[in-house]
Amino acid sequence: MPPNAQVTVRSPAKINLGLSVGPPRPDGFHPLATVYQAVALYDDVTATLRDDAAITVEVVGDFAVDVPTDDSNLAVRAARMLQVEFDVEEGVDLSIRKTIPVAGGMAGGSTDAAATLVACNRLWGLGLSQPELERIAAELGSDVPFCLVGHTALGRGRGEQVTEVMSRGTFHWVFAIAEGGLSTPAVFKELDRLRPLRRVEAPEVRPELLSALLSGKPAALAVALSNDMQAAALSLRPELAATLQFGLDQGALAAMISGSGPTCLFLAADSRRAVDLAVDLAESGLCRMVRQAEGPVPGARILPAPANR
Ligand code: ATP
Repeated sequence: MPPNAQVTVRSPAKINLGLSVGPPRPDGFHPLATVYQAVALYDDVTATLRDDAAITVEVVGDFAVDVPTDDSNLAVRAARMLQVEFDVEEGVDLSIRKTIPVAGGMAGGSTDAAATLVACNRLWGLGLSQPELERIAAELGSDVPFCLVGHTALGRGRGEQVTEVMSRGTFHWVFAIAEGGLSTPAVFKELDRLRPLRRVEAPEVRPELLSALLSGKPAALAVALSNDMQAAALSLRPELAATLQFGLDQGALAAMISGSGPTCLFLAADSRRAVDLAVDLAESGLCRMVRQAEGPVPGARILPAPANR
């Protein structure tokens, strides 16, 4: 294979440390104010150059069976968007190694799209800058720009307008991955059903969340976490309340639904306690799978050789 004919990009899952949801706009989207953090659970997307214009995808790894391999795959959509907008004559074979839960509220599909933008930008020699990639990412989905940027960031609009926020140190997270997924639009619909008559305020990020991140103290972060989607996710999947409570009983500093769910996330005081909690959750039988990851970590990035032969 000629040099530069294959690129592998590693891209992280996201969590929402604060997720404030405003009333639906006329176009149906909900305005958000969110603080994202990228965590060290990754999908790897390997892109291999094709001489013809075809775009193909295969998915391997933990959650492969839940992911479409037709044109609805977000990685394929990302490659197609670049190909059309920049009149690219070549195609690409995409191979996604998935470790991020699918439909788990952790932006797995969005991060594959972000990884594909970075990979195809290199593979096809497009030379697009980071701001140009972020503009294209925003057209693909609300979480895609953050997956490019990574670290810890404020998300406005539908979540696609990202600005980095200061965060000190490393936080230790544990994830209880539930059986089955939850559709993000279904959770927004449930949220609107639960609060139809309430005056819903414009979305806001809590100042105590930003100061907790600056302090780097897990105990301060634990009391500043919030998620407006949690009540709606629990309404659709009431059994998740037992998982959250179990984590708190085992010493988690905080327990919360991740994004639109159904993944439950727990903040541990340190890495040793995170391991203990992960073991307890795995033995509890309350979830399909348990993962542990620290954050923040960078966004989508090209892996050095030898991954990129
Ligand atoms: P978010 O947190 O951004 O709302 P999510 O983590 O809940 O998203 P995803 O894992 O992105 O959800 O998957 C949502 C749906 O998107 C899946 O049910 C799947 O059918 C579809 N999908 C399309 N492409 C992908 C992909 N590359 N990886 C995962 N899911 C994909």
